[in-house]
Amino acid sequence: MRGINRLDLATSEGKVLGDNYQTDHWKLRGGPAGLHLFNRTTGLNILLDDVPPPASLYSRAPRQVSIAITNRCDLACAHCYAPKSLDELQFDTIVRWLTELDEHGTLGVGFGGGEPTLYPEFALLCQCLAHKTRLSLSFTTHGHQIDDALAESLRGSVNFIRVSMDGVGATYESIRHRSFAELLSQLKKVQSISQFGINVVINGQTLPDLNDVAIVAADIGACELLLLPQVPVRGVPAISSDDMQSLRRWVDSYRGPLKLCINESSAEGFPTCDPLVQEPGLRAYAHIDARGVLKPSSYSDTGLKLSDGSVLQALDQLAHDLEENNI
Ligand code: SF4
Repeated sequence: MRGINRLDLATSEGKVLGDNYQTDHWKLRGGPAGLHLFNRTTGLNILLDDVPPPASLYSRAPRQVSIAITNRCDLACAHCYAPKSLDELQFDTIVRWLTELDEHGTLGVGFGGGEPTLYPEFALLCQCLAHKTRLSLSFTTHGHQIDDALAESLRGSVNFIRVSMDGVGATYESIRHRSFAELLSQLKKVQSISQFGINVVINGQTLPDLNDVAIVAADIGACELLLLPQVPVRGVPAISSDDMQSLRRWVDSYRGPLKLCINESSAEGFPTCDPLVQEPGLRAYAHIDARGVLKPSSYSDTGLKLSDGSVLQALDQLAHDLEENNI
């Protein structure tokens, strides 16, 4: 992606692009790749990379964070890697961390778990953060807890929703033990809140359904398909190398309307595009689990328990620990 200059942007803000382009919708972060402008309302990213910014303008916080706000879930999927515990983060603590991260350049937060819609004050949390910060808010959900009242209270606060749908019909029902017809009806409620995408855990059971998942997802209004090759967990093996090969072939042959995405740890061998390749690791992403442990990813065994102090200082300490241990 090549950049546009500041004058182009200032002109566009004022005269051409309309209300979503007002200054308070834009957020700016600096890094080795350039100056990165982001609009949480439209999801538009602009990278000004003609002249590298000085290191003094680099943002200290990761570009994106994910937070497991609760480990509670009312389903019991075999592939689930969330710890089976009732750990849950405090409302005020989440707001404090995210306010600090927002001030130091984080662009977005993704809530997960567990099932985030089971968090007692989930809608209030999203409303509070939408008002208090300029973060883009997203969450990952199985979708079955979203009723009309929750949909109404999330509208305007949440920018993107990721819904888990690993197969269609009987495949979906054998994994989630919920009705597929009910999920389709829930997706209409999801669609009324914000743009949404579908997450698919890929393994030997779900791969044969992938075409149908993509067709159903596009038909019902999703804009993105996130492919999540199965990671080993509690006796469930990782996706086989044959299935990974089949997934690569499927991606190469896909011609549908959905944007395809894959998690970073599985991306090798896929045709990915990363305009911010100079900003890896904790500059790009960090995860906080439901026990308040800061990690380089949700799968990582390495982490640092957050105390009452600054989350930025904890990030610096974690970066130091990872470097010392060559992780
Ligand atoms: S819905 Fe998500 S959090 Fe709940 S058991 Fe399934 S994978 Fe785990």
